[in-house]
Amino acid sequence: MTAVDLEVDQLNSSVDALRRSLSNRLMYGVGKDAVAARPQDWLHAAALAVRDRLVARWMSTTRRQYEQDVKRVYYLSMEFLIGRTFTNALLALGIYEPMKEALAGVGVDMEALIDLEPDAALGNGGLGRLAACFLDSMATLGVPGFGYGIRYEYGMFRQQIVDGEQVETPDYWLRSGNPWEFPRPEIQYPVHFGGRTVQRDGHVEWVDTQHVNATAYDTVIPGFATSATNTLRLWSARAPEELDLSAFNQGDYQRAVETRNASENVSRLLYPDDSTMAGRELRLRQEYFFVSATMQDLIRRYLRTHSTFGRFSEKVAVHLNDTHPVLAIPELMRLLVDIHRVPWDKALAHVQQVFSYTNHTLMPEALETWDVELLSRMLPRHLEIIFDINAEFLRKASEGGAHDPEMIRRISLVDEYGQRRVRMAYLAIVASHKVNGVSKLHSQLMTRDIFSDFARLFPDRFTNVTNGITPRRWLAQASPSLAGLIDDAIGPRWRADLFELGALRKLRGDASFEEAFRAAKRSNKVRLAHRLAHHTGLTFDPDALFDMQVKRIHEYKRQLLNVLHVIVRYNRIRAEPQREWTPRVVLFAGKAASAYRMAKTIIKLINDVAAKVNHDPIVGDRLKVVFVPNYGVSLAELLIPAANLSEQISTAGTEASGTGNMKLALNGALTIGTLDGANIEICDSVGPEHIFIFGHTADQVDGLRSAGYRPRQFYEQNAELRMALDQIRTGFFSPGDPARFSDIFHTLVDWGDHYMVLADFAAFVEAQEAVDRRFVDVPSWTASAIENVAGMGMFSSDRAIAEYARDIWRVKPVELG
Ligand SMILES: *Cc1c(COP(=O)(O)O)cnc(C)c1O
Repeated sequence: MTAVDLEVDQLNSSVDALRRSLSNRLMYGVGKDAVAARPQDWLHAAALAVRDRLVARWMSTTRRQYEQDVKRVYYLSMEFLIGRTFTNALLALGIYEPMKEALAGVGVDMEALIDLEPDAALGNGGLGRLAACFLDSMATLGVPGFGYGIRYEYGMFRQQIVDGEQVETPDYWLRSGNPWEFPRPEIQYPVHFGGRTVQRDGHVEWVDTQHVNATAYDTVIPGFATSATNTLRLWSARAPEELDLSAFNQGDYQRAVETRNASENVSRLLYPDDSTMAGRELRLRQEYFFVSATMQDLIRRYLRTHSTFGRFSEKVAVHLNDTHPVLAIPELMRLLVDIHRVPWDKALAHVQQVFSYTNHTLMPEALETWDVELLSRMLPRHLEIIFDINAEFLRKASEGGAHDPEMIRRISLVDEYGQRRVRMAYLAIVASHKVNGVSKLHSQLMTRDIFSDFARLFPDRFTNVTNGITPRRWLAQASPSLAGLIDDAIGPRWRADLFELGALRKLRGDASFEEAFRAAKRSNKVRLAHRLAHHTGLTFDPDALFDMQVKRIHEYKRQLLNVLHVIVRYNRIRAEPQREWTPRVVLFAGKAASAYRMAKTIIKLINDVAAKVNHDPIVGDRLKVVFVPNYGVSLAELLIPAANLSEQISTAGTEASGTGNMKLALNGALTIGTLDGANIEICDSVGPEHIFIFGHTADQVDGLRSAGYRPRQFYEQNAELRMALDQIRTGFFSPGDPARFSDIFHTLVDWGDHYMVLADFAAFVEAQEAVDRRFVDVPSWTASAIENVAGMGMFSSDRAIAEYARDIWRVKPVELG
């Protein structure tokens, strides 16, 4: 490599320069004549023009990082739920308006282009979106970091609702190409599977393996209002050149090609499950595939500027977003010990200093374990390493006083009850220097319940970092009307320091600000109503209360509790149609995992209830129910700014944090919620008079459960609840198929109601009545909505990343000079 200074065009961002870039990129980048260009081509050209303007920043950030020999963070995640990039990049560069003008100059409407961009939906829900918000904040804060994951060809499935039921269609998001990524075919690592281990000269060799190559695709992640950038590097599988040459030589060309295709399946699709997919061999291959490539890449980068591993842990931090990337631990051990011949003890010490792990769930069924037998077939060397780490850990634990054989069995990395399985979370804890939960409550319960033995063994290892969201996407981009109003009131600095929003409190009682605030919310409701009218054929009153539950469909999130309230409200309106009712539009959105029967039945119930309610002439505008299909990042950006009420009603102790709750409050919705996850901290921040808290606390849930919870008592004692449940059971909402929802009834009434829907029902309905009363008191509701926005400072992902950088990764921002 030579270091000549290249002569390149300096790209400024005036309207003229942008227009020139657009023309150049359309012609030389897309290869289209303006007369033949479709909107899709213009979007591509515009994306390239924007990307060009990011590249100079990217290169100078990378150079600075090398010069300063900074410590880098490797953020490993199976999922990055990015959404669209175009608007985000324009806002980060501060060129939204000039680009709009430049496009108008060539006769193109930018707003129409924006909707053509497919979402990069490489994630299921909260966990993947968190990773995307974190990348944005790392870049904005200048934290030298990389996101590492898989470049799935098929992202999260598209959800259609046909006859009220979820129908999944594949999301081939790369159909029109991806202008944001740079393919790096020269960056390629072999990833091995299978084979066996042999001892040679005192070292272990892993032999007789098959391999697939991992090749890199890089995306620039721009920081907001800084020239700092970061990189998201996603791996794609490529069959090795020589694969199945024998079949080829025997003239079986077709079989040779088929084998190549099969070996590339590893990066084909995202598993559409929002918890764990343990048990599926291809899933395990995916997990190993991306962490192996990442560990090889990280070592290569480290060795470019260091000749020994002596300073490894000063220069590298590896973060595990949940347990999916935990195989990075034995993989790094293998590379250090077997390949680079670092002594075992030194290697393990490095590993323990570089790794950290975030736990995302307390639900035992969602904690990943892998069958020892499967591991021994697919990754025999890694299994040996895990056993060795385990032996050493158990030896130290018993030296430290853990003599009780029952305790040893409990904490072992290998679950010996029944079929032997490796407990991935335990491996992550033992090999990391920090383990965090994602809200105060979750971190407490994590150390009290699922990891209590480890918390006693390693008291300093456990910590909390409450999740956050990026205000750039979730306020500035999603709600230009509210963002503009806030800018006028307190200036634009909140985008980079969300605590600035606290200044909104001084506008308390300012009638013109409150009026403008209501107008901004109303315009977002009109925007949504307009889109919904388009595909439902219904009209929505923008002055009705927009009540929103948007998130994955899951029993623990309790969409059923919400539906029960809707049914009771419907029955009440029909019983007393002449009364004054606070008009409501109840909106649901969310995907069900494709194999999750109950979640799919819940979607069908919501749609059947909607059909009944929306077409009942007695009800009219007093109640409307909508299930909006295909929830994803772009739909969230449309829905969330239009909400008045945010439904965060999980059974206390089940939602680790939630981030939807933060997005909605930031957009001026009031929360109705349980004391669960980050709801508790939201309540502390905004004040209990500006939030509707109801239901059993986590401790009360435990108490009820151990005292013997009897849901049928609630059914028998509450007449309105009984009527609603009987309507569900007897086909009131499904006259053509009366037994359709009988499982829902039995789950709640007869089969234990694991998520305690019935126990919280009465309190929920009461809280909803309080919501109605507050909403009609317009000044009071507006004041609370403003308090919610003002109190969101600590829920910025910038705050979360600053905590990770300081307390867990111990990294400093790059100096840009
Ligand atoms: C924020 C977000 C989530 C997480 O929502 P929760 O309410 O916290 O479960 C899921 N999906 C998308 C698309 C999101 O933007």
